[in-house]
Amino acid sequence: MDKRLLLHICCAPDACVPIPDLLAEGWEVHGFFYGSNIHPLDEYARRLEAVRFISSHNAIPCSVPDYSPEEWLALVHGLEHEPEGGRRCERCFRIQLEAAAREAVRLGCEYMSTTLTISPHKNVALINEIGGEVSRSHGLKWEARIWRKNNGFLRSVRLSRELGLYRQNYCGCVFSVRKDA
Ligand code: SF4
Repeated sequence: MDKRLLLHICCAPDACVPIPDLLAEGWEVHGFFYGSNIHPLDEYARRLEAVRFISSHNAIPCSVPDYSPEEWLALVHGLEHEPEGGRRCERCFRIQLEAAAREAVRLGCEYMSTTLTISPHKNVALINEIGGEVSRSHGLKWEARIWRKNNGFLRSVRLSRELGLYRQNYCGCVFSVRKDA
């Protein structure tokens, strides 16, 4: 198999299992880290550094667009007070996957997937539904995975500890910053 897949990477700990698993299956993997949802800048920089590390550790390329938090805030305008897991997060997944799809088309990838489904806190059915819609609208094929299955999340916790990866304690945006963090 020699199929090109763009893997949307939400963060390095969530990517440390999907990347090697996809490579072992024979996929040609190209990473993509959106990042403009992350607040503040120094948190973005820490997460980006970890994403660059996990990409080079697995010898895959990774695209990183410019950091534009104002653009992300404008796109979620009106949804600021939504609870975590609500409509703002649905919009956020779509924003990230739309950006990933544009990059997949630019790079000539045929397939797309995301690391988001390794999280035990996220609605994986919704993520795969949005991924499928976004992929189809860009002429791509969605590789629907639920990475948290088969102890995926536990493997990611163990592996990210072994690799010394930075593990954040909140999802990412200004609205998800823990008050006690
Ligand atoms: S909590 Fe996470 S998924 Fe939801 S809007 Fe914020 S960064 Fe995006």
